[in-house]
Amino acid sequence: MISKKDITKRFISYVTIDTESDPESNTTPSTEKQWDLANKLVQELKDIGLEEVTIDENAYIMATLPSTIDADIPTIGFISHFDTSPDFTGANVNPQVIESYDGGDIILNQFENIILSPDYFEDLKLYKGQTLITTDGTTLLGADDKAGIAEIVSAMEYLVQHPEIKHGKIRVGFTPDEEIGRGAHKFDVKKFGADWAYTMDGSEIGELEYENFNAAGAVVTIKGKIVHPGYAKGKMINSMYIAQDYINSLPRLETPEHTSGREGFFHLHNIKGDVEETQLHYIIRDHDKEHFEARKEVMKNLAHEINAQHGKDVVHIEIKDQYYNMREKVEPVMHIVDIAEEAMKSLDIKPIIKPIRGGTDGSQLSYMGLPCPNIFAGGHNFHGRYEYVPVESMIKAVEVIVKIAELTAIKNFEN
Ligand SMILES: [Zn+2]
Repeated sequence: MISKKDITKRFISYVTIDTESDPESNTTPSTEKQWDLANKLVQELKDIGLEEVTIDENAYIMATLPSTIDADIPTIGFISHFDTSPDFTGANVNPQVIESYDGGDIILNQFENIILSPDYFEDLKLYKGQTLITTDGTTLLGADDKAGIAEIVSAMEYLVQHPEIKHGKIRVGFTPDEEIGRGAHKFDVKKFGADWAYTMDGSEIGELEYENFNAAGAVVTIKGKIVHPGYAKGKMINSMYIAQDYINSLPRLETPEHTSGREGFFHLHNIKGDVEETQLHYIIRDHDKEHFEARKEVMKNLAHEINAQHGKDVVHIEIKDQYYNMREKVEPVMHIVDIAEEAMKSLDIKPIIKPIRGGTDGSQLSYMGLPCPNIFAGGHNFHGRYEYVPVESMIKAVEVIVKIAELTAIKNFEN
């Protein structure tokens, strides 16, 4: 359908443009350099023949592939982000293409002795004989999520060149700043105008996700009383000891390092304190909405208990919801997941359906009125020097996009 050479070339043309986002910035996009790739993508979408290609003042890109049939069928969308994670540098990416991978160690960087080994990264074994694109060991690759962009552009190009394939109207959306949690917040869902969409932002081939955490952040502030230690008896309140009580009163095994699957947790990620004041920064995560609410109650009640013991203003807690499980918004329109699953099966891809232990742009978009499950883009080991992507997985993702477009047109929906 699409050649390995073409998609490799396209992918490399994206990852060699630095688009690292910056959580400290207040602008959108958070970094000027994201415009470099954004402007190139706008031109490319026009060149391959898409219509209504737009880019707004925040670098959100949208485009349309018109319907090829005269029927009232849903408009679907495909979405990716073009920024890369600030966790690791994305400047001067120098991709290495390894053809017919032999299943052994890959030397990413001879000088620094950086090796991508299947002994440590067992997933590599799945791709023996395939073509891998890796880093040179000094940067991330940016397959998250430029693989997704390469796949969507390639699928649209293929559909433009094959007008005999019957499909409805398809919308394409590329966003900045996903990696700093702001990919969806300025996304104009109304302008996008799709009935539903898919983010092409998952990892291993077959991944299909429509569940993510409910998420909140909590700041627990504990006030102490500083008195000269020599005269402190009965007077000093050391906020750090009260903080310790607070920490120890939460279940020690309900933490990220002791949980998996659909198990939720309390995660203490930062402590800052002295005698007078200690601050504990937590994140709260749970797929189940009731359990999520219960976790927040546990943290509040604990604060009340300590206040009852030490005086009413010792512990102050502030909890802010961050995002919610998209399952609630996707389940009523479950056919959108079923279509993706059917598309994969018809292409001999084994669907891997599992809850995300995190959030996605799709979860925010789902709550903004655009139900948006997540599909694999093919890469592994995101946000670091060991990131790689098999070209065969990217081609499969292109095929999944085309198949979803076809299936949406032949199903009978009442909308
Ligand atoms: Zn991503």
